[in-house]
Amino acid sequence: MYRTHNCGELRSAYINSEVTLAGWVQTVRKFGSITFTDLRDRYGITQLYFSENMNGILAEKPIGREFVIQVKGRVVERTNKNPKLPTGDIEIEVTEMTILNGAATPPFTIEEETDGGDELRMKYRYLDLRRPPLKKNLELRYKVNRSVRNYLDTQGFWDIETPFLIRSTPEGARDFVVPSRMNEGQFYALPQSPQTFKQLLMVSGYDKYYQIVKCFRDEDLRADRQPEFTQVDCEMSFVEQEDILNMFEGLFKHVFKDVKGVEITEAFPRMTFDDAMWHYGNDKPDIRFEMKIQNLKAVNKVYCNALNSVDFKVFNEAETLLAICVSGSSEYTRKQLDELTEWVKRPQIGMSGVVNIKHNADGSFKSSVDKFFNAEKLQEIGDFCGSVKGDLILILAGAETRTRKAMSELRLEMGNRLGLRDHAVYKPLWVIDFPLFELDEENNRWVARHHPFTAPKPEHIGLMDDLSRYADIKANAYDIVLNGTEIGGGSIRIFQRGLQEKMFAALGMSKEEAQDKFGFLMGAFEYGAPPHGGIAFGFDRLCALLGGQESIRDFIAFPKNNSGRDVMLDAPGNIDDSQKKELGLA
Ligand code: ASP
Repeated sequence: MYRTHNCGELRSAYINSEVTLAGWVQTVRKFGSITFTDLRDRYGITQLYFSENMNGILAEKPIGREFVIQVKGRVVERTNKNPKLPTGDIEIEVTEMTILNGAATPPFTIEEETDGGDELRMKYRYLDLRRPPLKKNLELRYKVNRSVRNYLDTQGFWDIETPFLIRSTPEGARDFVVPSRMNEGQFYALPQSPQTFKQLLMVSGYDKYYQIVKCFRDEDLRADRQPEFTQVDCEMSFVEQEDILNMFEGLFKHVFKDVKGVEITEAFPRMTFDDAMWHYGNDKPDIRFEMKIQNLKAVNKVYCNALNSVDFKVFNEAETLLAICVSGSSEYTRKQLDELTEWVKRPQIGMSGVVNIKHNADGSFKSSVDKFFNAEKLQEIGDFCGSVKGDLILILAGAETRTRKAMSELRLEMGNRLGLRDHAVYKPLWVIDFPLFELDEENNRWVARHHPFTAPKPEHIGLMDDLSRYADIKANAYDIVLNGTEIGGGSIRIFQRGLQEKMFAALGMSKEEAQDKFGFLMGAFEYGAPPHGGIAFGFDRLCALLGGQESIRDFIAFPKNNSGRDVMLDAPGNIDDSQKKELGLA
């Protein structure tokens, strides 16, 4: 038997027991003729004590960091207790030690904090995974996984696997493709999601499906994405949007409670896409704090009358003018304001400046545009924005899309500065009524905002005949947003052949192309397809959020780097000429 106990379980109650432990040597500390060692495994750390009598054995069989050893000994009370360690009251007085395997000197320290850089840690991922923070993340991931499965099981969902070698599923990204040896010159695509399969399972009558599944999207990996990532993918039959929102609100409440002990009793707020854009500047509002965007002027319509009859070119010429009131910040210094101006000028934000109005503690106003706005006008703007004493009003001016985006970033930045974005606070919400289409400006064509299987709102189907009304068509599509991050989305689906054909045509697909690519799905719709809808959420992201971290990478056991490489395997790599020939790629 390799061990009687693990390295995390022994306590004072075991004092005087004879035990056998096995694990990795974390540290070796010699004090004259005695030696202390920390022995580590997945469960924790236990201190080993090699008395004077045992020193001979260490001289004979020296051990170093990350050696795998087995020790036998007696549990004794520590004179120097360590309250930070669960096993800190005891230590093992070693009587026998066996080296099970040696270890080369690790390239970085394997402790809570490490001195290893990103690349190095990725290359030796199996060593990095020994560190407590990563272990904690993967443990959390497992707990979320189990919690999701438990909930869906009690709700009657079946976990059904779907294939990875398929034909393209358009979710708006590029496909990864796999050459077929048996069908020379032809390729499979890896699924961007199991979208069409889960819809077919509804046609098959399976009613409630889920899968915790890998999805593959060949995108540029900015903003913390991974080329392969995990989704919790779900679909239900005979449901309306309301049924889905309720079912999955239940899931999130269950997971928050189960994994984090956070109980949310009230219903998740719902916000339309239009409201989210208007008040928060994006479709994933962080509602942990207010600081709503005030629209002084938007798309050339003036809402704040104080702007009329003022001869200030920057404002007059701007398509859009947006403001936020930052509480308790009216005492920002000149230097802080200059620094803020630099902040909005960064290329990622892309503004040429920021106008500030201080609503001082004494009720007076002072602004960077005093030349154009007298006290009365400033007061009027303050009233329009709902500012109170002590507020700093920040205004951005420019083209609609860019300014709105910049203001949404500025709002988040000010939220950060005021400490309003606490990781431990959970503020989920549903964003609903998304547009069915969006304009791909680069190629000047309309694309599906969610995916082409999303149903328009029934009352908007008529608008699909009029290109000039495309922007007004709303879908029964919804996103779940947590703390400013979209963690999932879905929709009610099209389930009739005619409407699906109409959708493909609206997206500029010829009848032939639609039939070639999606004939299987439209064919299935002719054999009694039930009304259905679903949702998928990003499992890696959800875990990272529950772990209170920004990046998903350390919640994935073996992630890829920013160039999509697995630096440990050195993948992607070359293949032999003979392999290429076999695949018809030579
Ligand atoms: N397949 C969709 C996605 O990956 C989710 C859904 O519509 O269920 O975003």
